[in-house]
Amino acid sequence: MSHHPDMPPCAALIGGEWVQTSHTLSVEAPATGKTLTEIARCQAAQVEEAVTAARQAFEGQLGSRSVKWHDWSARLRGEWLFSFAAKIDEDAETLAALECADTGKPISQARGDIAACARYFRFYAGAADKLHGETIPFETDYAVMTLREPFGVCAQIIPWNYPSQIFGRCVAAALAAGNTIVLKPAEDACLSVLRLAQLAQENGLPPGVLNVIPGLGSEAGEALAAHAPIDHLSFTGSPATGTLVAQSAATHHVPVTLELGGKSPQVLFADADMDAALAAAVRGIIQNAGQTCSAGSRLLIEASCFDAVLSRLTALFSELRCDVGENDPDCGPLINARQRDRLESLLAAARDDGIRVLAKGRLADDAPPGGYFVVPQVLIDIPDGHAVLNEELFGPVLAVQRFENEEEAVHLANATDFGLCAGIWTRDGGRQLRLAKHIRSGQVFVNNYGAAGGIELPFGGVGRSGYGREKGFEGLKSYTRIKTIAIRHG
Ligand code: NAD
Repeated sequence: MSHHPDMPPCAALIGGEWVQTSHTLSVEAPATGKTLTEIARCQAAQVEEAVTAARQAFEGQLGSRSVKWHDWSARLRGEWLFSFAAKIDEDAETLAALECADTGKPISQARGDIAACARYFRFYAGAADKLHGETIPFETDYAVMTLREPFGVCAQIIPWNYPSQIFGRCVAAALAAGNTIVLKPAEDACLSVLRLAQLAQENGLPPGVLNVIPGLGSEAGEALAAHAPIDHLSFTGSPATGTLVAQSAATHHVPVTLELGGKSPQVLFADADMDAALAAAVRGIIQNAGQTCSAGSRLLIEASCFDAVLSRLTALFSELRCDVGENDPDCGPLINARQRDRLESLLAAARDDGIRVLAKGRLADDAPPGGYFVVPQVLIDIPDGHAVLNEELFGPVLAVQRFENEEEAVHLANATDFGLCAGIWTRDGGRQLRLAKHIRSGQVFVNNYGAAGGIELPFGGVGRSGYGREKGFEGLKSYTRIKTIAIRHG
């Protein structure tokens, strides 16, 4: 085990105390395959304790201390979130180093993720005291109002690909709305989350308001989703696990937000700004080694510029370099051996089906042999309906298709069960709007892809990409429910 000087407590945070568990899990560095540290492996008993602590913090009493987070005024909650954002900024280098080592992502991306995490806290800090209900004109002898109330105890299950960003997105919004939280980070990468939880304690968050229970999906995750007294569940992860947790929550009538995967298209017309479009096409698939729910994993190219675009893509992909995250390459390793082996077997099956690799990046000569690297690549000659067009590969692999006209572009863009993001590249204003309206997707970007992260912009899917919205003001609302009060005053 390495002794990273800034390792966070690798235990569970329950009721303001760091709790060790009898069993632990090894955390690997994806760049080397070597063990980084051991983390707590929570089971049903710790889940029970964490939910109880969150319940007590929400309702007002934890041990001898009075907490009642919801009774902090919205303004005070906002002030706490602001001060926490400053704390994240102060600690940014340590947090980024942890996220880089733990997930394998390039250090500059890890820095960007930590900055985004702080921005979530600032955005929801400012929004906390601007969230309100309405009055409703009913019969003349009534006064009717709605209150936006927090749910209570929010369970949050998050994945390994963007631990700190998703922590920011979920935790900041839920706290701003007055909820308390039990958060289950992913077993493959949770060190930045544990450090963030440590900083939240140091910043004076009352005990029990945020509880973090590292562990396996099949143990801590399942127990949390099945736990009767949670009041809301937000899940970010794979569609298959999303189905399981939503079924589990349904047995207790717990409302759920599901942020699942994507197979998002970028649609490129011949009249587009090609330099900008191709830069975004490359970035959209190599970011986080393609392990991004909103990755632009399909590129649809208008026939009249198809050959010219392919030759530019070949040049761009040949330049890409894969290496350990600390060296700030274009592309880091995949998260673990399982994901690497899964991707390699999908690529082998694609080859057997006649799909060709147009271009590939390269691995740094001195990259560690134990790292889980797969070089960025472009696939062409893909038969309609092939799995590489409808399954998340979750790697730096771009699937290219050709279209003749607008109608076919929309048809191909929508030929997937997912619907998370889409990019449209054209200078034609009418076409921009027609496609934006007809593409089935939670977000559509025109002449950009991803709006630089867009923490202020509502985000979520349709179809297999899930339901509910996070980010932006919409995300704050989804951590509240409406109570209607009707007063008959005579
Ligand atoms: P995953 O579904 O395996 O794991 C996600 C989380 O769920 C982890 O914390 C895991 O421990 C937990 N989990 C696993 N099995 C569980 C169970 N039976 N009950 C309860 N919890 C369980 O997903 P992953 O492989 O870690 O993440 C990659 C997936 O997440 C991709 O499909 C990606 O597209 C998706 N994703 C979506 C978004 C989004 O916002 N839409 C963001 C990031 C990742």
